[in-house]
Amino acid sequence: MTAIDRIDIAVIGAGLGGAAAAALLNEAGFSVDVFEQAPEFVRLGAGIHIGPNVMKIFRTLGLEDRLAAIGSHPDHWFSRDGMTGEYLSRIRLGDFALREYGAPYITIHRGDLHAEQIAILPQDRLHFSHGLTDLEERDDHVLLTFSNGRQVAAGLVIGADGINSMIREKLLGVEKPRFSGWIGHRALVDMDKLRATGLEYEACVKWWWSQSRHIMAYATKGDASEYYYVTGVPVDSWDHDTGFVDSSREEMEAIFGAGAHPMVRGLIDATTEVTKWPFWNRDPMSLWSRGRLCLLGDACHPMRPHMAQGACMAIEDAAVLTRALTLTGTADYRSAFTLYENTRRDRATKVQTISNANTWLKQPEDPAWVYAYDPMTVPLH
Ligand code: FAD
Repeated sequence: MTAIDRIDIAVIGAGLGGAAAAALLNEAGFSVDVFEQAPEFVRLGAGIHIGPNVMKIFRTLGLEDRLAAIGSHPDHWFSRDGMTGEYLSRIRLGDFALREYGAPYITIHRGDLHAEQIAILPQDRLHFSHGLTDLEERDDHVLLTFSNGRQVAAGLVIGADGINSMIREKLLGVEKPRFSGWIGHRALVDMDKLRATGLEYEACVKWWWSQSRHIMAYATKGDASEYYYVTGVPVDSWDHDTGFVDSSREEMEAIFGAGAHPMVRGLIDATTEVTKWPFWNRDPMSLWSRGRLCLLGDACHPMRPHMAQGACMAIEDAAVLTRALTLTGTADYRSAFTLYENTRRDRATKVQTISNANTWLKQPEDPAWVYAYDPMTVPLH
């Protein structure tokens, strides 16, 4: 019979939220292990925005300067009409963000971000090839069973296991996420072709059409050597079993090409490889924790990605949860989980709602409530 290891805190999932939670808890002096189903770290995905709200958390972890050196620092988030090019809004970022919101706003390759997050974790506490397959809540621990047969008795379990979370299933029952009715195309464009257009592409710009159909395009490196776009397109259904499927320049042309502004045309022409992804969703949840189990990130409040804040909310969750546990100690985890949920629920739900509505920064508006927020100092209530 294999021995059952006893540990204090188990984080399930080493995605952007789970890696942040493990790093923050470790930094705060807790004994924490993180279990990830994937066999190893892979540089997945493409672009991601990280707002000043979350760069303040990375400051605590000693990552702010590293990420700022790698990422792009857009001066603005522009919203433009996809046909005429007319500017619908110009949201100031760059030095303004640094001054007003207290940290930089960056756009970065998601793999570069994740690699930095993984690298700061104590490697002997990061367990790949550990897909959680079962859990049993007992009086003084939770018994976790993993795909490799290993069993662990954990004092607390943090479910950072994404939209199909098994921890969520234990708390709220089996329920598949709902197809949101939207898909996104994602592509890193061919830089030679993009440069050949002779056009000056803005470092962060969202092109809008009617029905909120859009292309969000931005640089993912500070030296402007990589440019990425992600679309949002309403569709009737998603009929594939896989997480994503190949798309094509022709499909981009068919959806966005007719009458498009020359800069949009240039983006489409510079498309070589493009994939399309379904966006899944859930309604705000009635329960964030029970007993020794607690959720964060997409496991708890998944959203369509149109506000570029989903991962940011996961990382904010991680920061507030760590602060709550620091205040109460692990023995009083119930109070910590209550503080955590009370502090996070309204903000996460508001971001989820606006993200799903796809209205963020389309018109001039003040984004300070998102970007100036400091998860490291916000009062816990
Ligand atoms: P995930 O990133 O899904 O991580 C979950 C982890 O848990 C994975 O590593 C998974 O392998 C692991 N796991 C799952 N089940 C198990 C199990 N049973 N056992 C062990 N491990 C398990 N957010 C932003 O902030 N800014 C953006 O610009 C942005 N752009 C986006 C663009 C697109 C197209 C999409 C789809 C999303 C975007 N998001 C963005 C949202 C962001 O990607 C998610 O909100 C974020 O990844 C959620 O992080 P998470 O750690 O909660 O979950």
